[in-house]
Amino acid sequence: MKIHEYQGKEILRQFGVTVPRGIPCMSVEEAVKAAETLGGKVWVVKAQIHAGGRGKGGGVKVAKSLEQVKEYADQIMGMQLVTHQTGEAGQKVRRLLIEEGADIKQELYVSMVTDRVSQRVVLMASSEGGMDIEEVAHSNPEKIHTIAIDPSVGLTAAEADDISTKIGVPAASIADARTQLMGLYKAYWDTDASLAEINPLIVDGAGRVIALDAKFNFDSNALYRHPEIVAFRDLDEEDPAEVEASKFDLAYISLDGNIGCLVNGAGLAMATMDTIKLFGGEPANFLDVGGGATAEKVTEAFKIMLKNPGLKAILVNIFGGIMRCDVIAEGVITASKAVSLQVPLVVRMKGTNEEIGKKMLADSGLPIIAADTMEDAAKAVVAAAAGKA
Ligand code: ADP
Ligand code: MG
Repeated sequence: MKIHEYQGKEILRQFGVTVPRGIPCMSVEEAVKAAETLGGKVWVVKAQIHAGGRGKGGGVKVAKSLEQVKEYADQIMGMQLVTHQTGEAGQKVRRLLIEEGADIKQELYVSMVTDRVSQRVVLMASSEGGMDIEEVAHSNPEKIHTIAIDPSVGLTAAEADDISTKIGVPAASIADARTQLMGLYKAYWDTDASLAEINPLIVDGAGRVIALDAKFNFDSNALYRHPEIVAFRDLDEEDPAEVEASKFDLAYISLDGNIGCLVNGAGLAMATMDTIKLFGGEPANFLDVGGGATAEKVTEAFKIMLKNPGLKAILVNIFGGIMRCDVIAEGVITASKAVSLQVPLVVRMKGTNEEIGKKMLADSGLPIIAADTMEDAAKAVVAAAAGKA
């Protein structure tokens, strides 16, 4: 799960990381009021969307008067902000963060991620803050420093100071940087984050170290123990199909292709997508209906897939273990009737109650293409999506 920058900064503040004073706003009027409340002479008007690269896309502007705050807030609020992370369509800006302007002397990069290979939280840092870290990693990999943190000790002062020195934090600001890095580690650890990135972390004119941006991702499987993080969820920023699917406890991810996949089990779902691609097709989604899915859940899954206007065909691939094939068949029939199915449907079923399920489908009178093996099923659905069924 992702959150907005202003929410990330709230978390950082709670863990003792220095962030600029700022106020989130839902309208231009609120933005001007926020700037008045903050006082000072320089404000930054920042689009709040769940994607980075906002600065380059025109979503971050420095204002030197209240009139300018209004002008920029007017421009940014409601705009369709396109960044390298949003795709061509961009993301509509519905919230702003009005923040005091910082006096930037140095822009650094720091982030934490969980590294599956070392099984540790890794701190990455670079002197090249403010820009695309992917670009730095590509052209100047030696400028990215990393530390794999020992979970039994946490980030140590010595480690923090060492990496701060390597990225060019001046000697007088090392102790301050240590506070920020240790706070970031604690924030990452305690919230079950899967990514925490501060780009840029700055050193200002007075030598203070401040987090000017904040990006967090959280491990969805740990959200049950973080109601305070769940409360940050902004459904406007999420894929509507995925939001709908989560209501029914379905693991659904939208993809760019045109072949809908309904599968039980994440492993089989991955293998099904691979097989479709192997035969030249493109999956429209990942969908795992789970082991104990009911006919109702399958119906909802079908409805969600069918909302995609680009959908050309559907492949249902079920291994009936705990899940019985007749239950899937019932769901498929109910859903096909409920939505008056317009696209070709290929069904492959194996396992428990396979024969009953197959008979139900055959008796339903629906134009279902039955397939026996993964290969047959994938070939059939790829042909169907290409209009060659
Ligand atoms: P993004 O990474 O989405 O482009 P950032 O929050 O990193 O958004 O902002 C982009 C740039 O704008 C920063 O690298 C920094 O130079 C500048 N900036 C952001 N916030 C402030 C601030 N409070 N004061 C001064 N400059 C800022
Ligand atoms: Mg940034």
